[in-house]
Amino acid sequence: MLAAELLREGGVAHVPGAGTHHALPDRASGFCYLNDPVFAVLALRAQGARRVAYVDLDAHHGDGVELAFRDDPHTLVLSVHEEGRWPGTGALADRGAGQVWNLPVPRGFHDDDMARVLDHLILPVVEAFGPDAVVLQCGADGLLEDPQSGLALSNNAHAAAVAAIRPLSPRLLLLGGGGYNPWSVARCWTRLWGILAGERAPGTLPDSARAVLAGLRWMRRGSGRAIEPEMRWIDTLEDPPRGGLPSSEVRARLGMLRARLRVWQ
Ligand SMILES: [Zn+2]
Repeated sequence: MLAAELLREGGVAHVPGAGTHHALPDRASGFCYLNDPVFAVLALRAQGARRVAYVDLDAHHGDGVELAFRDDPHTLVLSVHEEGRWPGTGALADRGAGQVWNLPVPRGFHDDDMARVLDHLILPVVEAFGPDAVVLQCGADGLLEDPQSGLALSNNAHAAAVAAIRPLSPRLLLLGGGGYNPWSVARCWTRLWGILAGERAPGTLPDSARAVLAGLRWMRRGSGRAIEPEMRWIDTLEDPPRGGLPSSEVRARLGMLRARLRVWQ
C-alpha cells in the first residue's frame, strides 16, 4: 500500500520482502498469509493506475493473484513457472477474461530459454497491454541453487528481465517472492536493487558485504548440519551465465502463445 502511494506520480519501488502470491481470499497458502501483490494492484488502482500488469517470475505459479484478477480485463496476469510443481495451477490454456497468460516451463529451464521468453512473450504482451503500472514478482526460487524447484536460472535472467521491463510503464513495483537458498536470494535481490538504482555490481564484493554473506547459516533439512556455501556465494553478486540449447517444450509453447498474441493485439 505504501509502495503504491510512493508511485502515485510514477517511479520505482522495491519491496524484496513482498511477493506472497499464493495467499487466497479465505486462507493462507504456500508460506503466504496475505496476498500482498493483490493488495498492491488494488492500491495502484486506487492511486489512479487504470491498467496494471502483474508479471510473475517465481518458480511456482502465482495462483492467488490469478484467482483475484482472472475476470478483470484491466489487470494483466502473466506467470512463468515450473510445470508439475505445486500448486499445480497455471495451465498454458488458461486465459481468464483474455488477459491471463501462463507459461509452464520444464526442469532445467535456463538463461537462454528465459531470454527467448522475455523477448517473445513478456515484453510484447506487456507492451501490447499498455499498463499504467507494472508489478513484477521476482521470486528467486528458479535459481539453480534453490532447493524448491528444478529450474536452472542464474541471476542474470532476473537482472535482464528487470532492466527490460522497467521502461514499459511509468510505474514499477518490484517484489521478491520465493527463495530458499539464503545466499542466492540475497545476491539476486541486491543485484536487482542495484539495477533499479543504476549501480554496477562490483566484481568482488567489499569486506563489509562479504561479512554479511559469510554470517548466514542454512541448515540442511532434517540433517541438523549446516550447508557450506560456495566461495562465489560470498564473494560476488553476479552468477556466471547459465545458457544451453533451446528447450523444445518452451519453443512449442511460446509458439502457441505468440499465435494468441497476434490475435489479441
Ligand atoms: Zn515460489
